[in-house]
Amino acid sequence: MSLEGFEVAVVGAGPAGSAAALTLAKEGVQVLLVERGTFPGAKNVFGGRIYSYPLKKLLGESWKEAPIERFVRKEGITFMTDDSAFSIEYESRDPEGSFTAKRAKFDKWLAEKAEKAGASLITESRVDDLIIDGNRVKGIVAGQDKIPTNAVIACDGATTGLARKAGLVGMLEPYQISMGTKDVIELPSEVIEDRLGLDSEQGAAHVFVGSCSGGLRGGGFLYTNKDSIALGMVVGGEDVSSKQTQASSFMDRLRKHPKIKRLIKGGKTVEYDAHMIPEAGPKMLTRPYTNGMIVAGDAAGHLLNNGYTFRGVDIAIQSGIAAAQTVLEARKRQDYSENTLRGFQTKLRADPALKDMYTFNHVPAYLRKSRLYSIYPELVCAAAEAIYRVDGTGKKKIFKELRTQAKGRISIFSLVRDMIGGARTF
Ligand SMILES: Cc1cc2nc3c(=O)[nH]c(=O)nc-3n(C[C@H](O)[C@H](O)[C@H](O)COP(=O)(O)OP(=O)(O)OC[C@H]3O[C@@H](n4cnc5c(N)ncnc54)[C@H](O)[C@@H]3O)c2cc1C
Repeated sequence: MSLEGFEVAVVGAGPAGSAAALTLAKEGVQVLLVERGTFPGAKNVFGGRIYSYPLKKLLGESWKEAPIERFVRKEGITFMTDDSAFSIEYESRDPEGSFTAKRAKFDKWLAEKAEKAGASLITESRVDDLIIDGNRVKGIVAGQDKIPTNAVIACDGATTGLARKAGLVGMLEPYQISMGTKDVIELPSEVIEDRLGLDSEQGAAHVFVGSCSGGLRGGGFLYTNKDSIALGMVVGGEDVSSKQTQASSFMDRLRKHPKIKRLIKGGKTVEYDAHMIPEAGPKMLTRPYTNGMIVAGDAAGHLLNNGYTFRGVDIAIQSGIAAAQTVLEARKRQDYSENTLRGFQTKLRADPALKDMYTFNHVPAYLRKSRLYSIYPELVCAAAEAIYRVDGTGKKKIFKELRTQAKGRISIFSLVRDMIGGARTF
């Protein structure tokens, strides 16, 4: 393939990059999508759930051709101690609002959609550098190839090298990232459905807080594929580095919990992955654009993890679309300077889905309270034990029992402050 004549280079064929390339190609732009993996998604890691709405926007009815494992109908959260668990479950009315998928299949499928629309994809090609002329990005450097373009959209993921090369981000602090680990455990589909109370094709998404993270900031997740369970942990980078803890030790704790042990019994672990997650939100970069370049998706901190929903892929797709639309405007004006590209920032704040990142921008600070991962799960489980246990020693009314359990664990002042803070944050 000739590497000349491209108007735009999109770096990284993850969800953000393929969505950007597809949006541009649909408008007849000569776009090059560059991916370092052997195929898009070859090494990409995530938990397992994708919200459908941006795919409907991008592809219309053909979004249903996506490699869907199961549509998520059950949502759950469990507070756990080593030997107890308190779960809340919700069965959604929305039959197709989100689904589970495997990235190796999903990313490949979305990149193929971009190719069908006219984008040129090259794989096994790592972009090492940017062509910079004065204060303007004028293309990319991949190995021996120097590829000049009018604009670059950097969608190179959480460990972005390109935003750093353009001077838009410094070294990330440990509190700005989390470490995610995931096991894929194979089980027959009927076993998964029996154990999680699902009909065939239906899926579950569940999060876990408490003893699984050993008191550190973080929690576990479980998603059901057709014939496997994705089980993982996300733990704050600050705690992982300061406590010198191995990510694998959290996975052991989660897997050994009686509730989880029953769910995965007899399963075979066929995959183990680990990856970094940006947690600082859009503040991660000084700004997501410069002359000739836009940064989108994880690379720009465009992700929303508020503890009960984890939105990386949908936000990345929306961010990629917004980046491409900004480049289309620049193309119309024939002005790829930051004067035009700063329109990306306006789009981020105007788009209802992307605006969620700003609505919940105090979440990372709130979630840094370590008692959310130790005292509260213990309190919830202790209160449930006291409420449900009948052993002839006499019972208290529920409110009195809750006060008794809270006493000695947390002051009423802190409890009320956390509740008010939580109400304002979530
Ligand atoms: C453990 C874990 C669980 C998660 N669970 C969920 C979940 O359930 N749901 C959800 O929505 N999100 C989840 N996420 C987040 C989600 O994976 C990301 O937010 C999403 O993948 C971001 O998409 P992206 O396209 O911005 O980046 P990525 O998916 O990281 O894609 C970046 C692409 O760029 C390529 N690349 C990087 N550098 C170069 C280079 N120099 N040259 C060429 N190519 C390059 C990479 O190979 C990759 O294909 C999870 C993340 C982790 C780690």
